[in-house]
Amino acid sequence: MIQINQIYYLKSSDGEISELGECGGSLTTLMKFLLENKIVDGVLAVEKGNDIYDAVPALICDADEIGRTAGSLHCGTLNIAKILVKYFDEFPDLKLAITAKPCEAKTIIELGKRGKIDLNNLIMVGVNCGGTFPPVTTRNMIETVFHVNADDVTNEEIDGGKFIIKRIDGSKKEINIDQLEEGTYGRRYNCRRCEMNIPTSADVSFGNWGVSGSYAGEYSCVEVFSERGAEILAKAIESGYLLVKKPSKESVENRGRINTSMVNLAKKWQIHDFEENENDILSTFTLYQEEFKKCIKCFGCRDACPVCYCQDCTLESGTPEWVDKGRIPPSPLFHLERLIHMVESCTNCGQCEDVCPMDIPLAKIWHQINLKVTELKYSPAMDSQELILFDFFKRPE
Ligand code: FAD
Ligand code: SF4
Repeated sequence: MIQINQIYYLKSSDGEISELGECGGSLTTLMKFLLENKIVDGVLAVEKGNDIYDAVPALICDADEIGRTAGSLHCGTLNIAKILVKYFDEFPDLKLAITAKPCEAKTIIELGKRGKIDLNNLIMVGVNCGGTFPPVTTRNMIETVFHVNADDVTNEEIDGGKFIIKRIDGSKKEINIDQLEEGTYGRRYNCRRCEMNIPTSADVSFGNWGVSGSYAGEYSCVEVFSERGAEILAKAIESGYLLVKKPSKESVENRGRINTSMVNLAKKWQIHDFEENENDILSTFTLYQEEFKKCIKCFGCRDACPVCYCQDCTLESGTPEWVDKGRIPPSPLFHLERLIHMVESCTNCGQCEDVCPMDIPLAKIWHQINLKVTELKYSPAMDSQELILFDFFKRPE
């Protein structure tokens, strides 16, 4: 009997998927079960593109194709919730399952609140996430720190706080992530500051924390967050797709300890990165005026943002004068307008900062501001279904 708020060890009974998967492929096998039993029409996940630094979204509708999406791509910095909106816009009755990192799960909840996604039509299969690595910088890191040709790397993994690469000849090299982050390499900056490693807004979440000894690499530690999550896991186990074990009390405690230490590490990064201040939201925004002056108004941040979806964007209109299309750098009101949107919806996924050609630390700025909002007892994508601060978005009837 699978129950909500409980943790299980799950293993795939499919030998082929088991080989392809990061930790035995139980997640991909669950997706296969959902497709074969017509519980969903499609699965939205991620697959390898040109190489291991290139993660691309994949919509799989044929269960025989699901193996393509198995494995973890730690340079996969994308937020696939943005694509989800496009599918649901076109096919509102589509039933999908999605693999979601914590920031993707939070984004999905935000889009659900705004009526852009019908959460009843979506099964969210979460993956725990301790952070993703910027693809271009990581290639550079492999060349300069590991002294390995980045094109010779066939696989990367993260285990016990180490970044491990495997070369074409089968040899492995590893470096401690803390050591990398003392220098200029390591996880993306927004990921370092992220306190959410386990996507509690998903239906279930799969991870390797808490799995040790002979279970390591074959089982995932899976937490159930919803009745629907409990139901699909129970059916997949009953039908023989997944094998289940109850983890020991020590394993569950160990998982909790790792999570706590990662949350504490994130808080340390926040203190390290954020401009020092005791102030309110607007004063915090003002601290970064010099950064905003670098803006060339390319709209990259807006376009990359997975919670920006307005068809007619006020930032592009000719009036009022402060959003005049030709004005560079834009008036501070350009980013103030973005602030009003971001303040209650930003999920710290870092897409805006990734694309900004002027290297404005946008994710850092919005995260620092969002923590001010959290002090007001509202945390984007975490709290009630109500938008309590700036409730000007059109919500479903
Ligand atoms: P698989 O069957 O291999 O399925 C993995 C799923 O993840 C597939 O659907 C695949 O498309 C999807 N995926 C791969 N890369 C990405 C990506 N970049 N973004 C979104 N989806 C992706 N577990 C922990 O306990 N602690 C961690 O710190 C941790 N960090 C992770 C970081 C990343 C970027 C990812 C993707 C996973 C992480 N996990 C972490 C989860 C763990 O690595 C396994 O994915 C999980 O245990 C399930 O194993 P599996 O073999 O059943 O998954
Ligand atoms: Fe300005 Fe950077 Fe946004 Fe472009 S991506 S509009 S330069 S802040």
